[in-house]
Amino acid sequence: SGGSETLEFQAETRQLLHLVVHSLYSNKDIFLRELVSNASDALDKLRLESLKDPDLAADTGDLHIEIEADVAARTLTVRDNGIGMTRDEVVDLIGTIAKSGTASLLEKLKQAKDSAASNTLIGQFGVGFYSAFMVADKVTLVTRRAGEEHGTRWESTGESTYEIERLEDAPQGTSVTLALKPVDTEDHLYDYAAEFKIKEIVKRYSDFIRWPIRLAGQADPVNSMKALWARPRNEIAQTEYHEFYKQLAHDWADPLETIHFRAEGTFEYDALLFLPAQAPFDLYTREAKRGVQLYVNRVFIMDECDALMPQYLRFVKGVVDAHDLSLNVSRELLQHDRQIRGVRRRLVSRVLSTAKGLLEKEPEKYRGLWDAFGRALKEGLLEDADNQAALLDLLLLETTHDAAEPTTLRAYAERMKPEQTEIYYLTGANRAAVENSPHMEAFKAKGYEVLILTDPIDEVWVDQAPAYDGKTLRSVAKGQVDLDAAESDEGGDKQQAREEFAPLLEFLAEALADKVKSARLSTRLTDSPACLVGDTNDLTPALEKLYRAMGQ
Ligand code: ADP
Ligand code: MG
Repeated sequence: SGGSETLEFQAETRQLLHLVVHSLYSNKDIFLRELVSNASDALDKLRLESLKDPDLAADTGDLHIEIEADVAARTLTVRDNGIGMTRDEVVDLIGTIAKSGTASLLEKLKQAKDSAASNTLIGQFGVGFYSAFMVADKVTLVTRRAGEEHGTRWESTGESTYEIERLEDAPQGTSVTLALKPVDTEDHLYDYAAEFKIKEIVKRYSDFIRWPIRLAGQADPVNSMKALWARPRNEIAQTEYHEFYKQLAHDWADPLETIHFRAEGTFEYDALLFLPAQAPFDLYTREAKRGVQLYVNRVFIMDECDALMPQYLRFVKGVVDAHDLSLNVSRELLQHDRQIRGVRRRLVSRVLSTAKGLLEKEPEKYRGLWDAFGRALKEGLLEDADNQAALLDLLLLETTHDAAEPTTLRAYAERMKPEQTEIYYLTGANRAAVENSPHMEAFKAKGYEVLILTDPIDEVWVDQAPAYDGKTLRSVAKGQVDLDAAESDEGGDKQQAREEFAPLLEFLAEALADKVKSARLSTRLTDSPACLVGDTNDLTPALEKLYRAMGQ
């Protein structure tokens, strides 16, 4: 043996561990789901690797997960004979938190008012392996990478350091042994060494895991291993869908909506998709991953399958099981596969039509979807020209019509004045700034409804989506909005005003020569003496800022 070494956790890991251990997280049961899911991932990886590399010196004869409890010693072990980890992998994967959003999670946790708020945050983030420290004083991991000779032991009490040691001999795969904390129902610490409790948790969270989960010394698996997506829809209870979703998405809330169908024909597949009720932590970061997994005949192939879902629908979770595809498909190949592109088109259109169905039939629920994912849907207007019309239909936008209730474009169109031919909007930093803008005055005076767009991305999509149902979206701050189309009898007054103010305009144009393109009389204003107007094709100030922030 190479002797043991003591290493320090990375600072962020230490903070997170502290929070995990000391939070009054009421659902401590999920630690077992996390460990089982890691074991299952490890088995998937080994299966896939051995299919790709027949020479891999690995035993794939009886891939399974075993749970062993020692009631007297109060330990619980979760064991798999999967891919395992090398020493470096243990240090990298277990000693650090590479997850995006960790820093922002810690920041938000510091601001959280109470334990309920911080539990919600932690629950959404998902602490994975570290959740073991909610129920254990000490965690010992023994692992050997398939094909490697030596193993590694890792041990920690979840404080600032961990020990790591090389083992001459270790079984293939990984075992995680928890020294359980004392039972304390006040603190939601049950007897996790009790067989009934283990079975209950496994059934609840890990029933669909596709590998047998056995209790030590027993032959029958605890889990049913049924691939839910392969069963007929009419035989599946809603609770089954919901449990499956929670396991798949590591979410603790039910999904908002479930989409399940089988495509038949030349390219057959089962698709089971979910629209979550809340946005994950990292949805709006560069690292956000897509949520659809690809299976081929129930063999797990890959997570985060970007060929199956566009970036803007990254929040959709689910599974696609294709019946006739090589297990060796790469992400690269999938991107160029004509049939996969067809699957993607179909999935996108099912997601958008499901959202539209909610909007029409269950507006409350749709409001939840919009609040969580509206910004991502707006990205679709930039990314997905083919579905522009469907996406415009899904927008909920703030409006001068009703401060409390955002509007769809359709509802706006229905309220348009008979002489009104365009849809008016104004972008700005917030509602008050937009409402008080001098650009609004004439529109207010004439009773025209104006959409209030305050999200930076609004600047971008309004630029790309110029018309809804034949009606141009027109910024009230840009170019010549012709409010006088119906009032040509004012022509005489205008002429007179133009002559009267000509010297002033000339003076202004000269004095502001390096700041404005021109100075002109306007019918936009009723109270303010002057306002700045962008050219129809100019960038708005907020958009200029956005582009600059993006480094363009
Ligand atoms: P996540 O599963 O979301 O990646 P975890 O904290 O649960 O995060 O696990 C961190 C990483 O440690 C995993 O991604 C995996 O690479 C590794 N790991 C954890 N458990 C096992 C295991 N039983 N076998 C092999 N690798 C594991
Ligand atoms: Mg995990």
